Amino acid sequence: MQNIETFNELNLNSSLLKALKEVGYEKPSPIQEKSIPPLLEGQDIIGQAQTGTGKTAAFALPLLNRLDFSLHTTQILVLTPTRELSIQVSEAFQTYARHLENFHVLPVYGGQDIKIQLKNLRRIPQVVVGTPGRVMDHLRRKTLNLASLKAVVLDEADEMLRMGFLEDVDWILGHAPDSKQVALFSATMPAPIRKVAQKHIKNPVEIKIDSGTTTVKAIDQYYWQVSGVHKLDAITRILEAEEYEGILIFVRTRNATVELSEKLEARGHTCAALNGDITQARREKIVEQLKNKKIDIVIATDVAARGLDVKRITHVINFDIPGDVETYVHRIGRTGRAGRKGKAILFVSPRETGMLKSIEKGTRQKIERMQLPGPDAIADLRIGQFKNLIRETISSQNLDFFYDLVRQIQQDESLTIEKLSAVLAYLVQKDRPLRPQFKEIKEENFSKDKSRKKSDKKLDRKSENVQKKKNKEKPSHDAGMDLYRIEVGKDHGATAREIVGAIANEAGIEGRYINNIKIHSDFSVLELPEGMPKEIFQHLKKVRVCHRPLKIHAAKDGDFFESEKKKKKPSKHGRKEGRKGK
Ligand code: AMP
Repeated sequence: MQNIETFNELNLNSSLLKALKEVGYEKPSPIQEKSIPPLLEGQDIIGQAQTGTGKTAAFALPLLNRLDFSLHTTQILVLTPTRELSIQVSEAFQTYARHLENFHVLPVYGGQDIKIQLKNLRRIPQVVVGTPGRVMDHLRRKTLNLASLKAVVLDEADEMLRMGFLEDVDWILGHAPDSKQVALFSATMPAPIRKVAQKHIKNPVEIKIDSGTTTVKAIDQYYWQVSGVHKLDAITRILEAEEYEGILIFVRTRNATVELSEKLEARGHTCAALNGDITQARREKIVEQLKNKKIDIVIATDVAARGLDVKRITHVINFDIPGDVETYVHRIGRTGRAGRKGKAILFVSPRETGMLKSIEKGTRQKIERMQLPGPDAIADLRIGQFKNLIRETISSQNLDFFYDLVRQIQQDESLTIEKLSAVLAYLVQKDRPLRPQFKEIKEENFSKDKSRKKSDKKLDRKSENVQKKKNKEKPSHDAGMDLYRIEVGKDHGATAREIVGAIANEAGIEGRYINNIKIHSDFSVLELPEGMPKEIFQHLKKVRVCHRPLKIHAAKDGDFFESEKKKKKPSKHGRKEGRKGK
């Protein structure tokens, strides 16, 4: 199907369409456009798509449409690599199914009290979303019955492979009815996944969102890794520090245009929301206002910004990452018009780094990581503006009355001129301090909320220094990652799967960020994203794998060798001591 403009053109029922209208999606994303029709017809699909493309709705909507509410059975099973994704996918189902009566979805994952899961499973949810290990557990206990299963979704199959879950997935698929429909989503399609697909998937429709290769004109492109609440802080700081004329901010939904516009207004910016709901007359008015400098900031959805051509747009900010490369190119093309220079900034959450890579590949351009201006840079800016204000006021205002007033106050209060000026300067700027005290906005590598709360500057600096040192001295490893040693290994029966599973679930670190695990006889080394918040680190020390606490610590040079060798050869690089544990 080509060029679908609205969800109404897909044969979804009215309850789902109503929910979509409420969440504010304006048009199906490319993966949705291609996946929904075959899934609605009961066909199997293999979709090559990653987070950020809208793949969850691509399978959730058609499968919800196919539920039979007259049956009191579990009809859809979604397998995900991590607990976090199970919860996210369940929430998405819940959102889209909000107008379907008696609908139940249940996430099941390791680490959660099994008693709660057993209680909830007794209600027979129509949809179960779980990690493979826990789903197997329930199948073995016969607390989950797949006899009437209509469809299985394998979400982020490559992640499940990486985490060692593929055998479990194979087992689960073998325990579901042959008649089931299967939808497999994966960012990449390595051979083992193809093999599982061949075994369990019948004549699939293969869907690949072709990233294509597009050239982008001279637009400076940056990204900032951030997510959730921090996006608002980050954009506020960018708006303060960047020199701009017009800014176009892209968000995913209609509702988000309004919400962000209100939040920025509350922070003193004049802006307007542009979305598919507003009338043509209002749209034209907003564009006019943007052109003649009545407003500088417009927050838009892709649909609403189509064809927008305003020369004074100096910046495009992708507040929400676009779902495909083409949309990215289209968005940033709204700046740098008429031969002018443009700047594009992309906010990327840790889960969306795959999409960032696709964009870089598709546009054949590197997107630079940007530095958010810190408090000192903002202070310099504000002080400069304050000085300008003084200069402008001197040249434009008659101040005779104020000369007299100031002299009088000075005498009455016996103040020096400096002291009186300082008081007045303070009063003028007290709502916009010249030396702002910003909370550090930490770039996000970790996905759990509690890690976000912690913005430990010291830890940040430390990990930066450690990283610099390490780059010189350690065996090579991925940038942005720290090397750790844990005190469980082959002799204790540990496997990569157990280690990744434990760390992913207990620290809320996504599997994809747990890299290069090397299992030695009585210990293992692995890489985790740098800047691990202290409380997660402390917690991980106590987490057990094969009945042994991990006792995780930052790896020293000697930690890369088996213990026997270590005794003889303390440091490969001639250092007496490696870096200390955090
Ligand atoms: P996913 O790739 O499934 O993780 O989805 C990424 C984000 O896109 C989620 O926040 C969804 O709520 C959002 N989303 C999914 N489909 C659409 C759509 N058609 N229009 C706007 N946003 C969407």
